[in-house]
This record gives sequence, structure tokens and C-alpha cells, in this order.
Amino acid sequence: MPAEESTPAIVIRARDYSESDRIVTLLTRDFGKLSGIAKGAKASRRRFERKLEPFSHVTLYFRRRPHGQLVFITRAERGENPPPELEDDLGKIALGSYMIELADALTTEEAEAAEAYLVLANALETLGRGAAATALRQAYELRMLSAAGFGLEFARCRVCSRVPEAEDGAVYFVVSRGGIVCVRCRANAPEGAVRLAAANAIALSGLCTARFDEATVLPHGGRDGTVALERFFASILDRKLRSVEFLDSLLEL
Ligand SMILES: [Zn+2]
Repeated sequence: MPAEESTPAIVIRARDYSESDRIVTLLTRDFGKLSGIAKGAKASRRRFERKLEPFSHVTLYFRRRPHGQLVFITRAERGENPPPELEDDLGKIALGSYMIELADALTTEEAEAAEAYLVLANALETLGRGAAATALRQAYELRMLSAAGFGLEFARCRVCSRVPEAEDGAVYFVVSRGGIVCVRCRANAPEGAVRLAAANAIALSGLCTARFDEATVLPHGGRDGTVALERFFASILDRKLRSVEFLDSLLEL
């Protein structure tokens, strides 16, 4: 029998399977994204102290199977962090749901994802303690993109490296360049570039590096910043995330 392995993990999807089992997908610190079957999960309080539901932060114990994608989840213990307290706050539920759906969309099974795990864990912890905010959403998007290998550039022009200033008025986000071009290099911006207030580009560049608990009090990148990021997601994801519309209806700008 394969050895039992363990790792901290966050449940990002779960569904019942047969009378007593659950199929669970988790973003783990040590093994990337894993899907597994938890036999008897609906009945066993001993082996699955925490219910295996989205947002549960657990120490996962599992065994690999010689064939097949699903691992056998043998136990799940309470992790270091309590699950974020999202109850009774629709904005927090919407942003939290979006966070785990985006983490799911930007990771693949068995690929290393330690940074993505840390980004998600820190963002959910911050969300649990505070309020749903556009700055936290955008900071999370930028950091999760970076963890997935898509570091976006809002601090300098992709063409001439000039640092935009608020007096510039506007810059242009170009999806294919993964960043902005300044007003002087606008001729290099193709049709369809997203016009961003320069102040909003500066805010986004600040959110790229801020800690999440700091990000919640920083200026956000505005509605045009959200549009620029959504345009980028549309270019790399093969589907629109289910949670986006609900989130957009609740996070006011
Ligand atoms: Zn430029």
C-alpha cells in the first residue's frame, strides 16, 4: 500500500458521492492541486473532524492510488487557521467564492502550486478578519496571476520603461503585453487597449506588492482596473468564472 502523505490544504470544491463519500478538490501546499475521495466522510466525525467543504483549511492525509486520478483521503484534521468567517455577509461570501474559483482556474492537478496556496490562504484569512473590498479583490487577482506565471506590469511602461505619474492622465493596458504603455507610447497600443486613469495604474502597481492586510486600506485600481484585469483573465481562461457576476453586483465601485 502506498505510504500516507500529508500537507496543509484548502478545500476548493466538494460534492457528495454515493451514500456516504465525498469527492473533494484541494489546493495543497506541498502537492499542488489534488482531487480525492473521502470514504465515509459524511458519517465519520473521527477521521474528518472538519467537514470537507469549500473554505475548510485542513491538514490533509492521503494515499495515492497506483492508477487513477483520485487519491484516497484518509483523514483531515483541523489546520492551523480556522475557516474564514464569511457567514451573514454576502459581499464576503461572494469574494471568498471568487477567490477559490480563481485559484481553481489558475492551477492544474499535480503541478507545483505552493505560492498559489499561500496567496489563497493569506487572502482568505484577511477576508475573514475584515470586509470585502475592491482593493483586496484586485490585490488577490494580481498575486494569484503572478503565482501562476503571469506577472502583470502596472508600474512602468512596457515600451519605454517610463514610470507613469498621476499628471499623465491616462495609460493603456495592453493584454498581449501583460502591462501598460504610457501616453507617449500610445501609438504602440493596439486597438482595444484598456484606457486606465494613470492614478489607477499607480494604485494597481502598489497592490502588486502589498501584503493583503495592508492592501485593504490602500487605494484600489478603480472600475477601469477591474475591466483591465477581466480582459486579461478572458485571454487566459477558457471560461467565465461563475462567481464573477455575483461579485460584481455586490462590490460597488
Ligand atoms: Zn512609454
